[in-house]
Amino acid sequence: MEGKTHYERIIGGTQEEKEIASRELQAAFEERSKKLTEYEVEKTPEDLEIIKKTESIVDKMVLQYGGVTKALPPEHIYVLKPGGVLAMTEGRLAGGIYKPLGLEIGVEKGKSKLLFASTIAHELFHLKSYKSARVGKSGEDIRLYRSGVSMIDRKDQNEESGEEKEYFAMLEEAIVAECTKKFLDEIGEDREFSEEVQAVKKFRNWVVAYYHRRGIPEEKTKEFERELKYIADPQDKVEQVFAFSDDEEKRQAYAAGMFGVLYERGGVETVERYGERKKLYQLLDKLVINSDGKFKSRDEVFDEFARANFSGNYLPLARTIEGILGKGAFRKLAEEFSKEPKKEKHKTSETANP
Ligand SMILES: [Zn+2]
Repeated sequence: MEGKTHYERIIGGTQEEKEIASRELQAAFEERSKKLTEYEVEKTPEDLEIIKKTESIVDKMVLQYGGVTKALPPEHIYVLKPGGVLAMTEGRLAGGIYKPLGLEIGVEKGKSKLLFASTIAHELFHLKSYKSARVGKSGEDIRLYRSGVSMIDRKDQNEESGEEKEYFAMLEEAIVAECTKKFLDEIGEDREFSEEVQAVKKFRNWVVAYYHRRGIPEEKTKEFERELKYIADPQDKVEQVFAFSDDEEKRQAYAAGMFGVLYERGGVETVERYGERKKLYQLLDKLVINSDGKFKSRDEVFDEFARANFSGNYLPLARTIEGILGKGAFRKLAEEFSKEPKKEKHKTSETANP
């Protein structure tokens, strides 16, 4: 497709309708969103720096997974007031939002630089997943057809946008969340974020040590370690624990107690999309086990999923899956990972903090 929009293809409709649709997409790309603008705050030099770092890591990963990175004007990333997403979606979403047709994201900015970067990355991974559109009732009625591995059902032309079934929607979400997890490992090495990251780690290790002492099952402790992303004001919390006692065991118990209170008060962030990722992990493990040694680890198979998501090419993934799980398995998974249409109408599609 011509123009600056990231959409690679438009399907359906006549040639003329396709041309109208193409212009519509281009216009959507160039227009600023009124809704996002309403909650937007001016970007500080620090915000711009974080956005730049974040996007460059995201782009590097997208390229590694066979995607194409295209220029995204900085105005497409809206920094929003805290609570902005919640207000604009009437309580449905929080943290971040992504508008697929215009290719815009909105990210709330709170106190944490790490969470800010993490939400930007999550929404950017959605935005930079392979994109194609389709003609609906007319050229003006342009709809999302594919975003990464997800594909929107187009059996019934009369269904309104947002009412169709979305195949592999949960899989796209899981891939995006998993990529964000990898992104966090990388950005944690950056000096700008390391203070926050180290404080979270320090605090987490106290809690883990306490769990070990109390005989909490290893599996549960490991999961806690893997899934904890952030605690509010981590540096301050670590100082409080240090001030509480000189005794390591007492510090551990104190941190664990503090964690419980924090959790109840919403001061804990876990890695997003646990349900979707868990479903993906189970599938990856199944593929590894049944691959006759072709795949050695979850990550190796994940690579193929991410490639399908960012390049848009389903075929190699479908072949791998059907080669291991048998004919028809790919179609079955599309269904298992689908999302049924929502009852309420909406045009946005995202949350970073479910
Ligand atoms: Zn998401």
